[in-house]
Amino acid sequence: MISKRLGPLSPYKTETTPSRIKLSSNELAIDFPEEVRRRIAEEVSKIPFNRYPDPEARALREAIAQRFSIKEENILLGNGSDELIYYLSIGIGEFDRGIFYPTPTFSMYGISAQVLGRDRVEVPLREDFDIDITESLKVLREKRPSLAYFAYPNNPTGNCFSEDKIRRIREEGIFIVVDEAYYHYSGKTFLDEALRRDDTVVLRTLSKIGMAGLRVGFMVGKEEIVRELSKIRLPFNITFPSQVIATLMLTEFYHILEAEIKKVVEERQRVYEELLKLEGIKPYPSEANFILFKSLAMPAELLHKRMVEEGVLVRNFSYMIPQCLRVSIGKPEENDAFLEAIHKVLKNS
Ligand code: PMP
Repeated sequence: MISKRLGPLSPYKTETTPSRIKLSSNELAIDFPEEVRRRIAEEVSKIPFNRYPDPEARALREAIAQRFSIKEENILLGNGSDELIYYLSIGIGEFDRGIFYPTPTFSMYGISAQVLGRDRVEVPLREDFDIDITESLKVLREKRPSLAYFAYPNNPTGNCFSEDKIRRIREEGIFIVVDEAYYHYSGKTFLDEALRRDDTVVLRTLSKIGMAGLRVGFMVGKEEIVRELSKIRLPFNITFPSQVIATLMLTEFYHILEAEIKKVVEERQRVYEELLKLEGIKPYPSEANFILFKSLAMPAELLHKRMVEEGVLVRNFSYMIPQCLRVSIGKPEENDAFLEAIHKVLKNS
């Protein structure tokens, strides 16, 4: 018998409409040079994939530790940070206490709570997309959740919440997870606190910096937290090819990714400024690799549909935030195509 907890859920959805230009999933748009592809092919061809991979993924953990100046014992690897969200929702606090997160935000926080039968303690963000601290404190005292998630920067709004508000919530005796999936585009982090405190961890991922297909995320926290959560980690959760390719990318080829990340930050500013000029569009400032924008002149669904017809796929978020869509920042020519298409669609509306 299927649990009734699953009834209200639906499988995780992404945009799969085929399109010439895909700016819907916040990936890093990069064409890897031939040299990189050759090296990867060479290393992958040596994998004895009839064997299980290293359950500890030591080489990859070492590469992550070195690359991001963290110690290996402070790192827990996940099959994407999605998996780590499950581990945290399972391993932190008891199931009779809820999980807090401001909304709208990344859907996995709520989904993990629902799957486990934990109370979802949601508080809407203010109009400027920052945390409503008065309402949050009120709700926290009423519902007594034990775990809180903060996407920092937040998806899909693109902003970082005020740090002092996150800390204020933690002061209520709540364990906080600062999800820094987009850290490379914001430069803002709670890493120091995660390494020092018993009530704070940081989530990171390789997905937004050119390796979404490898499914590698990591949690950073005190050694005891990593050790305890390791007890629920699925064995061999990072596949052999992912361990090999991610290690190679972080050691030999990271400079290539870094250069692209820098370009995205520049492009984000350009796209934002161009969107500001468009009548009928209200873009929101972003510290991530995407921009949320409001469609004022036509329904978001229609704008989305017309953009697909122009060969540009963006993500329609109007089910979550009225009239809003989200565009990932791609290569300059893709961003140009997006701007041209939206210009054309608006003009013809
Ligand atoms: N956290 C946030 C805020 C995200 O936007 C995403 C990706 N959409 C994730 C976590 C999951 O990333 P992954 O599982 O690919 O590491």
